[in-house]
Amino acid sequence: MRRRTFIKLLAAGSVAACARPAHATIRGLTMGTSYTVELAAPIDDAVRTRLTELIEDELAAINRAMSTYDSRSELSEFNRRQDLRWVPASRGLLEVLDRASQISTASQGAFDVTVGPLVDLWGFGPEYRPRRVPDDAMIERARQSVGYQHVQADLSAGAIRKRDSRIQVDVCAIAKGYGVDRVAMILDRQGIHDYLVEIGGELRARGTTAAGRRWQVGIERPVEGKHVLGEIVALDNRAIATSGTTQDFFEQDGRHYSHIIDPMTGRPVEHPAMAASVIADTTMEADAWATALIVLGPERGYSLAQARGLAAMLVTASGSNFDVRVTDTFRAHLVG
Ligand code: AMP
Ligand code: MG
Repeated sequence: MRRRTFIKLLAAGSVAACARPAHATIRGLTMGTSYTVELAAPIDDAVRTRLTELIEDELAAINRAMSTYDSRSELSEFNRRQDLRWVPASRGLLEVLDRASQISTASQGAFDVTVGPLVDLWGFGPEYRPRRVPDDAMIERARQSVGYQHVQADLSAGAIRKRDSRIQVDVCAIAKGYGVDRVAMILDRQGIHDYLVEIGGELRARGTTAAGRRWQVGIERPVEGKHVLGEIVALDNRAIATSGTTQDFFEQDGRHYSHIIDPMTGRPVEHPAMAASVIADTTMEADAWATALIVLGPERGYSLAQARGLAAMLVTASGSNFDVRVTDTFRAHLVG
């Protein structure tokens, strides 16, 4: 969804860590970043062409539904609406908004797709405003139109609505995950069962690598402008997503302002450089929770993840070291 491809590419949170794990790779660009599909078994040219077409079509459809960088997308149109009545929505947008709303409730509002006006105000949105600290009155004004309860999705009716006309929805923190899940579904339907799908550092793996081993994924440390590999996890039919305060940010007067906004304060999260990784059944869920845990911070995030049985790892920079907290359900995935 974001156009800052360069930053995103440099800052992918989770990376495939195996040497020569795949026999076939399909790559492309989507959502302001790149995607990679690794297949354990070789495919012939006809299958490659067909698969690439299916994947590209699906990703293009997701962008047409949810990109806030495309003013003609379904979501951009919804954002412009002043009308509070229910409006029919595409299946994808419904699913994403429904899941987002559940995770907002479960994270006590830390995850909130209505942060759009704040994301824009701080210069991280499609408006391309200069990145600098806005004045308090502007933050307060933008904050007034934020609140996850003000957007509703009714899956059975196939419709969505605003409960406040000023609401601006931004699904950047969950859409990449959704995209990975959709690409995985395409592979499943084509009878392909050994793969690793990745969009902008959010991944989902199924089956085994070409060498018959479980797919392994390395997790990057929250370090500005550098790739520093931390823990490695093995995935079997699971997804992993990583969010971090060093993935996209600006600095002013020696302070660090991240692209992840605390909906309560209307400001970028304030704790030290931090990354959160979540392993879940779906990438959409892992993606949203990773963002939520960053907002909650190392202590509250860890407690909530542990209490909910979430498989999560929270890494906080402390001087030149890292404080690593791993929930019980995450530990089982660690390699070595
Ligand atoms: P991610 O990289 O998945 O953590 O998503 C970060 C992006 O989600 C940001 O660039 C914003 O567009 C948006 N965002 C920022 N803060 C939040 C939040 N608290 N809840 C949901 N989305 C957010
Ligand atoms: Mg996310």
